[in-house]
Amino acid sequence: MRPLILIVLLLFAAMLWYQNQQHPQLQHNSLLTRIQAPLDTRLRYRIAEVDPRFGLSHAEVVQLAQQATQIWTEGTGQDYFVYDPQARLAIRLIYDERQYESEQRRLQMGQIEQQQQHWEHQQTQVQTVKQQIQQLNQQLAFKNAQLQQQLNAYNQLNQSIDASVQQFNQRFQPRLFDKGSFDGKSIRIYEFQSAADLRLTFAHEFGHALGLGHTHDPHALMHPLMQEQNLDHFQLTAADLALLQQR
Ligand SMILES: [Zn+2]
Repeated sequence: MRPLILIVLLLFAAMLWYQNQQHPQLQHNSLLTRIQAPLDTRLRYRIAEVDPRFGLSHAEVVQLAQQATQIWTEGTGQDYFVYDPQARLAIRLIYDERQYESEQRRLQMGQIEQQQQHWEHQQTQVQTVKQQIQQLNQQLAFKNAQLQQQLNAYNQLNQSIDASVQQFNQRFQPRLFDKGSFDGKSIRIYEFQSAADLRLTFAHEFGHALGLGHTHDPHALMHPLMQEQNLDHFQLTAADLALLQQR
């Protein structure tokens, strides 16, 4: 019996050796597996460890690994891999400083991109605000110009109103007959506004020359103010005549 066992063992060893040559991936399978399924040439693998910091569940990693083997299957038409929880080949997702740093890098890149976007957004906002300020300034300048124009017009109007009032006052001020004078020697006329005005002013001063004083009758020639008198068709009033008689 012993030589027979020895021969079987030798044959089995030879087969494994041959399989290793033909299917190198089998070197990674356990001996037990190879004994149990000597004709299965697929590489067995398992997901042994997934650090939770990767943020992936065990099932998700298994699925991803299977999708990876599908790439081989679709590319070659052969099954090279099979998932086996007992497999010798263990896949471990170990979270160390490499992952940490790559995540930090991604995070930072993300932050930088966010900051860039934020900055660009702010730039846009600043531009918008600038434009708004420009518009407002333009509107303000326009309003200012308008107001200034209005103010100028108002001032001009005021000035012309003032001038008009002055003119009016000058023109329509109660014309004192004192714009003429009689000093006993001469009649001096200082001002008149029309021929009729001058005519009546003369007449008034002549009255003084006649020795008349003033009267309270506003229509009279000898009223101190020339206001109510009829300039163009003046006739002496009873008051004038009374002064003349009182002399
Ligand atoms: Zn007088």
